[in-house]
Order: sequence, then structure tokens, then C-alpha cells
Amino acid sequence: MDVFGLLGNPVGHSLSPPMHEAAYAELGLEARYVTFEPAPEALGDAVAGAQALGITGLNVTVPFKRDVLEFVEPDPLAERIGAVNTIEFGGDGPPTGYNTDAIGAVRSLRDHDVSLRGESAVVVGAGGAGRAIAFGLADEGATVTIANRTASKAERLADAIPGATGGGLEILPDVVPRADVLVNATTVGMDEDRSPVPTTALHDNLAVMDAVYSPLETRLLREATTAGATPIDGAWMLLYQGVDALERWTGTEAPVAAMNEALRSHL
Ligand code: NAP
Repeated sequence: MDVFGLLGNPVGHSLSPPMHEAAYAELGLEARYVTFEPAPEALGDAVAGAQALGITGLNVTVPFKRDVLEFVEPDPLAERIGAVNTIEFGGDGPPTGYNTDAIGAVRSLRDHDVSLRGESAVVVGAGGAGRAIAFGLADEGATVTIANRTASKAERLADAIPGATGGGLEILPDVVPRADVLVNATTVGMDEDRSPVPTTALHDNLAVMDAVYSPLETRLLREATTAGATPIDGAWMLLYQGVDALERWTGTEAPVAAMNEALRSHL
């Protein structure tokens, strides 16, 4: 039996177990997906222990996505992003670390027929999700602008991405009207009914993706719909980061519809 899992703290409300176990059922795989909450100082032991026990793969979430880099061999994308959310064990060498948040964002947009090559994309937020999404979109050929509450973080991130520019949130009224794609990668909209983007900047030639998935319909997405833009909720990115992890671990095409149904039934 294959064992997969999630390292994070807390992980009690994670949607990954039902999403992955729905895939195992659909694929007829004898496998389990287990959540683990190591203490921060035990992270290295947890990764080594998972390897010693023959665990096939782990997802990694808050607060370990950066710290886990010390215990894995990151692939080039995860290294550039500076964070790992998926570990693949195999053999005795160091496990490989991937960042499937970046690919998850790209595949969510692709699923909604949003093209990125040569398009102009605005990413709001320069935290963990913002970094992954900005690299992912740029690698697909989009010209990326990053806007963040702390402008210096956006500027530093933009410096690491060829052709990207960055600034504070005050650039949004200028850059969003000219953009093709807008992604919210801040926490704004999670705990209160607020949007990080001025309503008047939204327009009907825009695809608007929110990384926030709780609530599923954020104020930003409601306002995007009203403006005639294409809204894409945060469950899509959550789905596709899991799809990509599963495909790396199993070498099998993921049953996307079954995973999506399981995920949305738990939201
Ligand atoms: P993070 O590393 O803590 O970054 C938080 C970001 O939000 C920073 O850019 C921060 O700006 C900004 N922010 C926080 N409060 C703000 C406010 N009041 N006004 C404006 N900006 C504010 O968090 P994260 O891991 O990137 O997660 C961000 C969001 O993405 C969360 O809602 C998370 O659930 C979601 N997420 C979704 C997925 C998915 O698969 N759908 C995956 C990962 C994350 P400063 O830099 O100025 O503090």
C-alpha cells in the first residue's frame, strides 16, 4: 500500500485527504493520505522519518514550505520560488522538492481557456502564494506585474523574474485596466468581505483568479462577475496543485473530475 501525506501545522481542516483519497478510489489504487503535524524543530526528523518508513510522497503546507528546503533537493522551479509544497521520495538520496502551487495556478487558468503567452498579468500579493504564482505565470510567457501592500517585497520579487515589475497596491488602478489576467494572492477576502482591488479597475476583458478558497465566492470574484470578467475561484488552484502532485507521485493521469467533486463537497 502506498502512503502519502501532508506536513503542516495545523492540518486538521485540510481538504487534501478527501481530495487525494477520492483519486485513489477512482484509480483503484490501494493508498492512504495521512496528515502530520510535526513541531517546527522536528521538521527534518519528520522528513527523514517519512523516507525511512517508505512513505511515497508528502505535501507540505504552512508553516513549513520554506523551511523544508533544507531537507530536500528542490527542482529548479521550487528553488527559484524558494518554497516546496510537494516532496517525492525515491531511493536513498535526498527527496526531491517541487512547488506545485505555481503549476496549480497555471493549470487553473488553462482549464478556463485563459492564455498566458504574451499576455499581461497582475499578481496582487508577494507572500508564499504570490511568489509561486508570479513565477508560474512568467514561465508561461506572461508579462507579470506584482502589487503588494509592502511595496519593497513586490519589487524584490519582480527583480527575480525577467521582465516583471513591482510596486505597492496604489499601482492597481493604473495596471489592472490594461491587464488580461488578475490574480489575488493576498489573504484579503478571507476573514472579511473586502477586495484588495478597486472595483473601478475591473473590466470585461479580464480573467480574475482568487487564491482565497474560503469563502469560495470572495468579494473580488463577485465584483469581477459584475464587471463582466471571468471569475475563477481558489478551489481550482487547490485542485490543480493536488492533481500535479498526484501525477508526479504516481506517474498516472489524475482523475480531475473526481478530485474536484470531493474537494468542492468539503468546502
Ligand atoms: P502569506 O505568505 O502570509 O502572504 C500574505 C500576503 O497577503 C502578503 O502579500 C501580504 O502583504 C498580503 N496581505 C495580508 N494582509 C493584507 C491586507 N490587510 N491588505 C493587503 N495585503 C495584505 O500567505 P500565502 O501563503 O501567500 O497565502 C495567501 C492566500 O493564498 C491565502 O488566502 C491562502 O489561503 C491562499 N492560498 C491558496 C492556495 C490555493 O491552492 N488556492 C495556495 C496557497 C495559498 P504584505 O507582504 O504586505 O504583508
